[in-house]
Amino acid sequence: MRILIAEDDPVIADGLMHALKKSGCAVDHVSNGADADAAVAREQFDLLVLDLGLPKMSGLEVLRRLRTRKNSLPVLILTAQDGLEDRVAGLDAGADDYLTKPFALPELEARIRALVRRGTGNPTGISVGPLTYSQTERVARLNGELLDLSARELALLEVLMLRAGRVVSKDQLVEQLCGWDEEVSSNAIEVYVHRLRKKLEPGGVRITTLRGLGYSLQKPAAATAADG
Ligand code: CA
Repeated sequence: MRILIAEDDPVIADGLMHALKKSGCAVDHVSNGADADAAVAREQFDLLVLDLGLPKMSGLEVLRRLRTRKNSLPVLILTAQDGLEDRVAGLDAGADDYLTKPFALPELEARIRALVRRGTGNPTGISVGPLTYSQTERVARLNGELLDLSARELALLEVLMLRAGRVVSKDQLVEQLCGWDEEVSSNAIEVYVHRLRKKLEPGGVRITTLRGLGYSLQKPAAATAADG
């Protein structure tokens, strides 16, 4: 899951980035509205955490421009405690939810999970054959048994499961797994895929490599058909 944080207060931004990265999200940060506007127009994110009081372009303007482009990216706005009018204006302009500052990180994480769930239209989670993934709990199970996965492996599995049966390129994986300031080489992606593959093997779920194209997660039946 890839999140963009648009926040000009460095303390709040750092806290947010740290917490969200720890929970396995790829996080990018911009500190003014113009950069936020450019980033969401250019790249694919799963969620925008948007401070309304931003320099260069207000958060409200970023939001209005986003919705004018018919972009339905989920947006969580951050407003001041006494900013009732801001909140109303933000929701009217198409924000999905809001949080008033100061907020507790667990609350933010709960709101994010709810928004992402709404966005994917999968309240209970995703399943591919015997493999299930709960976005609420951030755990994966194979034949009902909890899989022991690192944060990166889990993030990788999430991307592959959301696009099960389709090809996901290495570039897409790198983009979904890391923020701008992180480096993940395509060799590292290969290592994560290799580890994940071994953990999924007992359930017959396969990650096939399409040379030069990318990877595809296949449920057991589909894998058998592909072999024949
Ligand atoms: Ca601000």
